[in-house]
Amino acid sequence: LPKEADVVVIGGGGAGLTSAIAAHEKGAKVILIEKTELLGGNTNYATAGLNAAGTKIQEKLGEKDSPELFYEDTMKGGKNKNNKELVKVLANNSSAIVDWLIERGADLSELTSTGGQSAKRTHRPTGGSAVGPNIVSALSKTAENEKIDIRKGTKAIALVKGKNRIVGVKVKEADGKEYTIKAKAVIVATGGFGANAKMVEKYNPKLKGFGSTNNPAIVGDGIIMVEKVGGALVDMKEIQTHPTVVHKKTNMITEAVRGEGAILVNKDGKRFIDELETRDVVSKAILEQKGKSAFLVFDEGIRTKLKAADGYVKKGFAVEGTLEEIATKIGTDAKTLEATLNKYNEAVKNKVDSEFNKKTLPKELTGTKYYAIEISPAVHHTMGGVRINANAEVLGKNGRPIKGLYAAGEVTGGIHGANRIGGNAVADITIFGKIAGENAATYSKSVK
Ligand code: ADP
Repeated sequence: LPKEADVVVIGGGGAGLTSAIAAHEKGAKVILIEKTELLGGNTNYATAGLNAAGTKIQEKLGEKDSPELFYEDTMKGGKNKNNKELVKVLANNSSAIVDWLIERGADLSELTSTGGQSAKRTHRPTGGSAVGPNIVSALSKTAENEKIDIRKGTKAIALVKGKNRIVGVKVKEADGKEYTIKAKAVIVATGGFGANAKMVEKYNPKLKGFGSTNNPAIVGDGIIMVEKVGGALVDMKEIQTHPTVVHKKTNMITEAVRGEGAILVNKDGKRFIDELETRDVVSKAILEQKGKSAFLVFDEGIRTKLKAADGYVKKGFAVEGTLEEIATKIGTDAKTLEATLNKYNEAVKNKVDSEFNKKTLPKELTGTKYYAIEISPAVHHTMGGVRINANAEVLGKNGRPIKGLYAAGEVTGGIHGANRIGGNAVADITIFGKIAGENAATYSKSVK
């Protein structure tokens, strides 16, 4: 195996795959190392879609939107804690990344919406199937066709620092064998730390005891390695909990179910929040209900329209039946649940939710068949991480780039501020993945 490359990418999720392909297409010799036997990381769990504004797809479907509006929604969602420069990069490059991904085999031809957005800009595959696996599969095939050197079962254990730049990565294979790969530039794309309960608790003690939706490999390796070579971290306490995770399990129920019109009721059969509020607000509201959980209620129309919803039913997460039957199954009063639904449908009809001021009222819940899934919040996304600039260069504590070191994806911080909008992660990891790949390739050519 060659032990030298222009660019070494650490991590084979959405950010890593994108940056490896982008660097390769710029003419760099790339090695990508992935510690597990599977590519995709948390990206494989990304369901809702990729947020982008001003795309050809939006134009075709008659959806009015602009990068400025995308910027504003993202800043507002992140409580203005976001790094403005990075959010501008996100918004302004979003339309182009959709084209780039489609050219490389991804399907992003449908539009939906998630909480906190003022336009339909969440691009997803046909039929509402999950975006993450679609992108990972398209990019894996592209990387394979391009014969990019991908080494699975190979874990990065340290960044190697030379006199004034990063010069390589120390790795460990599954059998324990260690070696160093010499590199002119290194891209850290190891994902966040949502599956590292100790690290979550260290940075945000309030989340002690929370479950996690993350892939078990997502434990903050990159953040720790970057810190050791003097990299700065940002927003580490900003950890997003996903409001709708199957109660006492790790399976997340995509926000798209609420996007299509599902409502949330508590154990008393009553609504308690605008279901499409931002994730932090919805999570908090659920934890305030009896038993710290709630039920996501939807009808046959939503199940038929959204593949993911159908999948949850098939996986056995939902109780199903007439409204009366599901009321019994979730242990609530049927009359109350019926009244809740009637009142909600009335609000949809009148386009005014006087109770919870829900701004988007997708549809009435109708028919004879309903579903209810018990859900509660769990750690979902770590918004903080390695500090980067608009070129995806890792910044040192003095604010200056560490030469030869780039980072992209969930390992970085600053883009989502204090709260990430659903669908913004897939945009983030691919946009900054591409920037990191291209810039690392260019930089590598300047190194003798
Ligand atoms: P992102 O969305 O930012 O791309 P993902 O969670 O999708 O992040 O992917 C991160 C990938 O990085 C995962 O496949 C994970 O197994 C891999 N990874 C994490 N730590 C290491 C490490 N130390 N060495 C190699 N790969 C790693």
